[in-house]
Amino acid sequence: MGTSLGSLGDFFPDKDIRCRIRGCNNVWQFSGADALHNVAQGKSTRPDRMCDECFAEFSKLTDKQVVCSTAECTHTWNWNRFAQLEAAKQGHTTPPRGFCEACKANLKKIKDAEVPCRMKGCERTWTWRKRDQMLSEDGKSPVRFCETCFGHLKRLQDVAVTCRMHGCDKTWHWNRYQQLEHIVAGKNIETHPKRMCQACFDTFKTLQDQNVPCKIDECKRTWVFNRYDQLEYKLKNGDESELPSKMCHECYRFFLDSRDRQLPCVVRGCRHTWTYTRSSQLHDWLNKRGRPGPRMCEECQKQLKELTPQDVECMVPGCSKTWSHPPEDQLRDQRQGKREPTAKRCPGCEEFLQANKPKEIPCEHCAKPIHWSSYEQLLCSLETFVKPTRCTACAGQELAMERPPERFHADHHLIVRMPPNGPWQKDDRISHWPPHLTYDVIGNVEKADVRIVAFGDDLTVSAESVEKSWPFLLEKALNEALGEKLKVAVVNAGIRRCTSRQAVQRFARDVAPFRPDLILFSFAFGDSLLRLNHRTEQWSPNIAHDEVGEAQESLFKKLSSTPAKLLYWTTNPVFPEDELGEKPSEMLRRWVRAQEATRDHCLRDTRHLCVTHNIPTLDLRSRFEVNGVRSAKRWMADWYMHNDTGGQNIATWFAQHILNGELLPKQTPKD
Ligand SMILES: [Zn+2]
Ligand SMILES: [Zn+2]
Ligand SMILES: [Zn+2]
Ligand SMILES: [Zn+2]
Ligand SMILES: [Zn+2]
Ligand SMILES: [Zn+2]
Ligand SMILES: [Zn+2]
Ligand SMILES: [Zn+2]
Repeated sequence: MGTSLGSLGDFFPDKDIRCRIRGCNNVWQFSGADALHNVAQGKSTRPDRMCDECFAEFSKLTDKQVVCSTAECTHTWNWNRFAQLEAAKQGHTTPPRGFCEACKANLKKIKDAEVPCRMKGCERTWTWRKRDQMLSEDGKSPVRFCETCFGHLKRLQDVAVTCRMHGCDKTWHWNRYQQLEHIVAGKNIETHPKRMCQACFDTFKTLQDQNVPCKIDECKRTWVFNRYDQLEYKLKNGDESELPSKMCHECYRFFLDSRDRQLPCVVRGCRHTWTYTRSSQLHDWLNKRGRPGPRMCEECQKQLKELTPQDVECMVPGCSKTWSHPPEDQLRDQRQGKREPTAKRCPGCEEFLQANKPKEIPCEHCAKPIHWSSYEQLLCSLETFVKPTRCTACAGQELAMERPPERFHADHHLIVRMPPNGPWQKDDRISHWPPHLTYDVIGNVEKADVRIVAFGDDLTVSAESVEKSWPFLLEKALNEALGEKLKVAVVNAGIRRCTSRQAVQRFARDVAPFRPDLILFSFAFGDSLLRLNHRTEQWSPNIAHDEVGEAQESLFKKLSSTPAKLLYWTTNPVFPEDELGEKPSEMLRRWVRAQEATRDHCLRDTRHLCVTHNIPTLDLRSRFEVNGVRSAKRWMADWYMHNDTGGQNIATWFAQHILNGELLPKQTPKD
């Protein structure tokens, strides 16, 4: 070692070193000489790198036995001077927590534990160190936030949030912990929860749900005015405000579910509507009225006010009185496009029909009862009809008796010659003979004493089978009434869809050759028919409107020029609306109106012609309708054609009229 002494200073240089005692800021100077001295002495009583001051204190201290920190452990551990000095330098006066040797051994055996975060809804954990576990007095884990929650809490600040009630601008306090709960629940911190302020909540607690009557008068139900709504209502309207007026739930539901509806105007033919409002629907519903009463549209109501009742002539022949056409009916006619009101009887005539029931009057000859209808009684009272005195049988016999027998013998030799050529050949519809005209009929005519021709359209054809057609039945009725002595033949010269113009063209074939004593004629149907195409819903007139007048005029002239007696008859009524199905289109409804109007027009013109040509009329239409339209329909097969019973009636009425009306030839023998 001696060889190296000269260079000792190189091994132990002077140094400034910080005191080793934590908490002490002194510097300890360690010189090379000291180091050498220490080495030379072979001892080191002072701990290394301790300042003088610390060493002074250190020298005064002695090791202490301190009780183990583990709860209920009575063992001790050694708190040495060094540690005591350090604790003192750091300002501690009491010993730190420490463990006895046994407990230290235990500590090695246990592990850190993961404890759930105290925050409700948080699924994270915090770490409970094993040392802290040892220190726990009861062994239970403390209640603590996880690191994340703790991080949030440090950032959060209590805030004031505006009260949720509309109309309240007070606030409530939202503290950090509530905010944390909000975040943990996954909600956005920017979205504040909706809560009442304290004042609102205090009022809320004093309130109770209330039942308030429905605002609709007829409704006996109530609606629930809940506490919450009451509070809001108070905030808005003040404490003393009246209860709000509201519908009950049912009424409100009804109101919500319903819509204003457009209902058709009650006036027939009017296409407008009126508005059935939701509130009217609600009132009707509450009053248990199923459907609203019929009502007029606004246009109709307005127009109705401008109309005044009109006097219209009675339809009964010979009656000069009028009936009052009320504004409502005028309006309906206007809407249906009718220019003239439907023919009607005056109240006087109606009264007469009511007061005078059909009678049985005895025949002057045989005393058998004669049926004298109310309508005939009416016509008699108006002097347009002669009161019957004889039954059909007696009347017929009388006629037969009155005839000079020679006349009939002469007539038996009538030869009917049907002209082979004529204008009818150019027209397909009339080029063939009338369907019920056969050689049998011609043979019958040649043998007959009295010849009648029924000249007309579909309503004269009358039925598919001859036996059911009214001309055939008329012939039968007349022959039964007149007996064997006087043979009557009725020729059915009806052709379907035949117009007055076509009648003129075929007159030479279908009427003239029979040299009739009486012609029963009517082309009202053929002249007024508007042929309807159901597929296209279009129609066309059977004869052009501007040709009808002229055609009728020339037919009347032609008929008047013959020696035959003439009888015009108004056919059975027609009901074009019966031709339509369910829910007809507007086009079809228009056809009905047009068909009715055309027919009315046609009948008026013919009536006028009958008057100017002095031709009597048999009004079958009003006989059909004598008990109303409904009863008339019982005699109809379709919208324009009578059925078998209708045909039978027509035959009977013709027979009565002919027998009582002096329409058969009497004294005057034929040429
Ligand atoms: Zn020190
Ligand atoms: Zn211990
Ligand atoms: Zn947490
Ligand atoms: Zn409030
Ligand atoms: Zn209600
Ligand atoms: Zn209307
Ligand atoms: Zn009258
Ligand atoms: Zn009689």
